[in-house]
Amino acid sequence: MITLTGKKVSEGIAIGKLTFYKREGKEIRRIYVKDVEKEVQRFQKARQKAIQELKVLYDTAAKEVGDANAAIFEMQQTILEEQTLVDRVNSIIVEDKLNAEYAIQTVISEYLSNEDTENKIYTPGHDVDVKDVANRLLRVLSRSWKDKMLMDEPFVMAAGELYPSEAVQLDKNKVLGFVTRYGTINSHTAVLARTKGIPSVIGLGEALKKDYDGKMIVVDGYEGKVYIEPDYTTLTKMKQKQDTNVTHVKNLERLKGKENITQSGQRIDICANIGTREDIENVIRSDAGGIGLFRSEFLYMENGPKLPTEEQQFQVYKLAAESMGVKKVVIRTADLGGEKQADCLDVGHESNPTMGMRGIRISLEKEEVFKTQLRAILRASVYGNVSIMFPMITAIEEVTRAKLLLETAKRELKAEKTAFDEDIQIGVMIETPAAVMISGELAREVDFFSIGTNDLTQFTLGMDRTNDKLGKFYNSHHSALIKMIRIVANNVHLEGKKISICGDLAADLDLTETFIQMGIDELSVTPNQVLALRKKIREIQ
Ligand code: PEP
Ligand code: MG
Repeated sequence: MITLTGKKVSEGIAIGKLTFYKREGKEIRRIYVKDVEKEVQRFQKARQKAIQELKVLYDTAAKEVGDANAAIFEMQQTILEEQTLVDRVNSIIVEDKLNAEYAIQTVISEYLSNEDTENKIYTPGHDVDVKDVANRLLRVLSRSWKDKMLMDEPFVMAAGELYPSEAVQLDKNKVLGFVTRYGTINSHTAVLARTKGIPSVIGLGEALKKDYDGKMIVVDGYEGKVYIEPDYTTLTKMKQKQDTNVTHVKNLERLKGKENITQSGQRIDICANIGTREDIENVIRSDAGGIGLFRSEFLYMENGPKLPTEEQQFQVYKLAAESMGVKKVVIRTADLGGEKQADCLDVGHESNPTMGMRGIRISLEKEEVFKTQLRAILRASVYGNVSIMFPMITAIEEVTRAKLLLETAKRELKAEKTAFDEDIQIGVMIETPAAVMISGELAREVDFFSIGTNDLTQFTLGMDRTNDKLGKFYNSHHSALIKMIRIVANNVHLEGKKISICGDLAADLDLTETFIQMGIDELSVTPNQVLALRKKIREIQ
């Protein structure tokens, strides 16, 4: 048994087979193989699978766009069935003792650069199809993780580092847990793991070796420990821990329907944070008082190269609104940029993206994209208790401009005779020291506030929340931060407005009492933290 220690990111125990995540589009490496027969078999299997996929594609396309247009997939099949291609790939594997991926890439490059049109294995002008075929073969060979999520048994994922755009796509039913070499507990990947309730340990360093691929692993998200090929005693202990957690969660369930009230009668609301459509169900199960933060940017990040349309967004927001009934749903407009990069919205290269084009700045630069989102939120507002929140605010002008665009969206909808809530509430995130200092003025502009302690901490301390070297310096209980939260609460309350905390600190049970004393109106946490927080509140004098 090998024991590794890292940083705990998301609680829970995961037990399963370890699978290393292969990032798509990765450079193909030239690797010597010992068992060439096995490698030839790998290639043959991948080729058969690719042919099979193309047959399905042909049938689907023929139905949808007709035989003539579908013929391209038939042509791609013939490329894969071409004996000279098969022989050439096999010969590189067998004679040069090289891996199938490298052999395929070599042969395809040879074909593409071959000027001899007479001897081409495919019709000239179809280079793009040859590339497409090669990509298909390579993807099948690499068994991309997205395919894995569709087909395989549940597994524990391992990676050097996992980006938020990748973490957002993890299917909780397939990914039992994940472990990484690098990363920090404050990153958005960590936030997503907690929101989805996927047990995870990160920052295991080089000790997390590729050799462990396929081995049995236990992830202890409570302790930040990982056991590779656990011995009988450890496995039994971990299974017990898993069962104890089930009992613990069951005990917490008794608090469903109960109030969030201290012994002395002070109340505070608890809401839940979500990122995707799938999380809505968890909020319903959690008995939260609503959705305090819908990180809508994840809809953009999981949508590939295309921007999510107004209709697409409307459907998700409407589902959230309807599912919550009278309970509130705070939709934060897209907080893209920084480490939350989406393929569909290129902000260009930046040397310091965390302090670059982010959140409201992008929205104000890309007015049409912003207006599409505002229209979708407005349309959803008639289906429940929806409000809008703007992220990364630093100045009053940003709020004024955002509100003007909201008015334009409202006017458009009115002209189209589309229903929306005329009095939709508007809030802002307090994530920058600037926003803290002008919170009094901001309180005269908007209806409510939510403190994003994750960003507020990094900007107050001047420390990157994703830099894993800063662990010991990164003090999330820093008195400067607590003072800032107090200042905001006082300023906002003076104007008779409400204040919530939706950053990770909201779930920090060591601070619950402090927040209640400050008069914070609401804490918004991940769905699976709701009942533990309720328990804590009810125990406070
Ligand atoms: C925050 O900064 O605390 C916050 C809630 O926003 P995010 O974590 O998505 O940046
Ligand atoms: Mg933030």
